[in-house]
Amino acid sequence: AAKLEGRNRFCYFTPSMQQAAHEKMLLMQDLRQAIAKNELRVYYQPILELSSERIVKAEALLRWNHSKRGMISPTIFIPLAEESGLILEIGEMVFRESIDLIDQWRRRLGYIIQISVNISPIQFKHLNNYRWLDSLIQLGLPGDCINVEITEGLLLKDSAVVQQNLLELHNNGIEVSIDDFGTGFSSLSYLKKFDIDFLKIDYSFVHQLMGNATDRALVEAIIVMAHKLDIKTIAEGVETEAQQDLLTHFGCDYVQGFLYSVPVPQQEFEQLLIDQENRNTA
Ligand code: C2E
Ligand code: MG
Ligand code: MG
Ligand code: MG
Repeated sequence: AAKLEGRNRFCYFTPSMQQAAHEKMLLMQDLRQAIAKNELRVYYQPILELSSERIVKAEALLRWNHSKRGMISPTIFIPLAEESGLILEIGEMVFRESIDLIDQWRRRLGYIIQISVNISPIQFKHLNNYRWLDSLIQLGLPGDCINVEITEGLLLKDSAVVQQNLLELHNNGIEVSIDDFGTGFSSLSYLKKFDIDFLKIDYSFVHQLMGNATDRALVEAIIVMAHKLDIKTIAEGVETEAQQDLLTHFGCDYVQGFLYSVPVPQQEFEQLLIDQENRNTA
């Protein structure tokens, strides 16, 4: 009876909404513990230079293997991490792990694989508190072994702070990519205002490249525009050879997608690099 009453009284807060809010709260509590329980892992997806078809970079992508619910997508838990403020701690962990790996690979393989790290707008604002920048310097790694992926939305507001932080990254040699380019509330004028190194062409333009003339035109135009502005391009979500061929034809610089590899744990990524070396010397 109480339930029914409640349902009638709170007409803007339905039981299903209430349940969703409760679910969210539970998941947020779990996320807090997930860090301590080591349930959060960083996976790495190869990024290939199109001209040589070699893996030269990687994107760090978080995975949450929840003890009861199994794998939870970052599209679900990253917003929770942002809302709860946990993103600062989680983000620092991703940078720490990535820098550690770059250092390991440098020693084992003799070269540097740049790692791209996604960062949320909230993280970007707290750039001054970053400890990972110090460890990068301590290890004697060049700044451009790290690429920071930001989204267009960030560039639309707080432009003084954003400009200052972008400058700080660049002063340390760190590169900056615009992720999911063309999908946000974008204004091309930010390309005039901010110094950007890479545009990542979103999956939503790439996946219908063969069948959709509009997507084809947009992708080609983005690549031409980027190059005129001295910005390099990375196509996301490449799944077929035909897409790769067309991207090569358009002069795209880098590719990333299931055609090459899904995101994998660090040992598997290292094996991809070793296989690549063996193919080259065979
Ligand atoms: P994103 O940065 O745009 O990452 C690319 C997404 O596309 C990844 O999804 C990747 O697994 C997926 N992908 C790669 N190749 C293909 C392909 O060929 N086909 C298709 N269909 N998908 C492909 P994922 O790993 O689920 O990550 C989703 C989003 O979560 C990321 O989008 C990023 O915005 C966010 N994210 C992931 N890790 C982090 C992190 O450490 N920090 C922050 N702030 N955000 C993160
Ligand atoms: Mg990304
Ligand atoms: Mg992306
Ligand atoms: Mg995307």
